[in-house]
Amino acid sequence: MSRKLKSLAYLLFAVCMTFLLAQGQARQTRSHPHSKPRVIILGVNGAEWDILRPLLVRGEMPNLARVIEQGVSGKLRTISAPNCPKIYSVFETSTPPEENGITGFIVHGTTANTGMLRTEPLWSFLSNSGVTVGMANVPATFPVKPVNGYMISGMLTRGKNCEDGLLCSPKLSEVQGGDAVYPSGMVAELQANVGDFLIDCARMPTAKDLLGHEVAVVYEWLARVSATREQQRKLFDYLLTNHPTDFTFLVQSCEDRVGHWLYPIQPYNVGYNRKLHAIQVDAFPNQYRALDRVLGTILQHVDENTTLFIISDHGIKPVREKERHNAHKDHAGTTPIIAKHDFEDGDDVPGVFVAMGPGIKKGTRVVGLPMSVFDIAPTILKLYGIPVPKQMKGRVLTEIFEGPTETAGGAPVR
Ligand SMILES: [Zn+2]
Repeated sequence: MSRKLKSLAYLLFAVCMTFLLAQGQARQTRSHPHSKPRVIILGVNGAEWDILRPLLVRGEMPNLARVIEQGVSGKLRTISAPNCPKIYSVFETSTPPEENGITGFIVHGTTANTGMLRTEPLWSFLSNSGVTVGMANVPATFPVKPVNGYMISGMLTRGKNCEDGLLCSPKLSEVQGGDAVYPSGMVAELQANVGDFLIDCARMPTAKDLLGHEVAVVYEWLARVSATREQQRKLFDYLLTNHPTDFTFLVQSCEDRVGHWLYPIQPYNVGYNRKLHAIQVDAFPNQYRALDRVLGTILQHVDENTTLFIISDHGIKPVREKERHNAHKDHAGTTPIIAKHDFEDGDDVPGVFVAMGPGIKKGTRVVGLPMSVFDIAPTILKLYGIPVPKQMKGRVLTEIFEGPTETAGGAPVR
């Protein structure tokens, strides 16, 4: 099928879904939540093994340690010059950015949005097959699309004081230029039960904001990050309790943002500024200590029939290569940084992969980089027994499963 035809087919599907779901109100809660495999993905933007591993060794991430012990872990190979919208769109479509349409934060001068998606994403395949879908804070899902469940947008949501949607942080009530919640009737419910939460992590302070006020600005910004994370934790807990779905995809985005300018670099690293980088050397590791508490909340909703994936789109490392463009900037050049992920060689900054659940090997580490960001969608589809469409470039991660071919849902793994 040509690209145009594919886009048209997807558009038609989206229109049909809108119509069908508007007719009978979204079925957010199945009467038999375990009639299909139950999968929860926790995406952590920029989760970095170099930072996680020492914390695990020190026993400071007990929840993650437990999941690793009871499951499979390894690095997740990413693509060149990786960033969040680009890779989350690869997670969902298993197609390269130039095919799926989301090539970065900005595409042809406009902030990446769901209207640009040219290949059918995971949420659509699952919805179409009767799997209930719940998504919250997944990057580049604004404006939200109809699904067989709910969708709450994440990074790149537009709103008041965040008109371009570029790495800012509108509150739910401040969203503009599209819907951040599907079905829209859920907005009032979330406002009442979770509060007027921030959709994404705050934009990083500029060099000008920082100059001369480093200590105050750093602490103020970190306090806002903590507040955002607590709101996300509350949101995830509310959704998992009150709207359980077969497939749930939740994302945390503050880790990446903190890592960019507060990575614990040393005086010999590029961009070291004693005034800034000696203030809170634990700022970045603290994000993962806090993430572990969010994971603890999610684990309360994980039973023996649930498969849990923890994945990151890419890692993050101190600047250490000479590159032609924007060596000291990231996020479409908007952000001065000391650590980055947009390295031209994506192999330098692999993401994180951890999986635990029925039929998944225990205490197994996959070495090297055989697992890729393209493999997430095919692996999820296979868990539900849905054929992997031809356009998907990834493969089913058979090596993470026990035994010859059976998974929890009884679906054979190829
Ligand atoms: Zn980033």
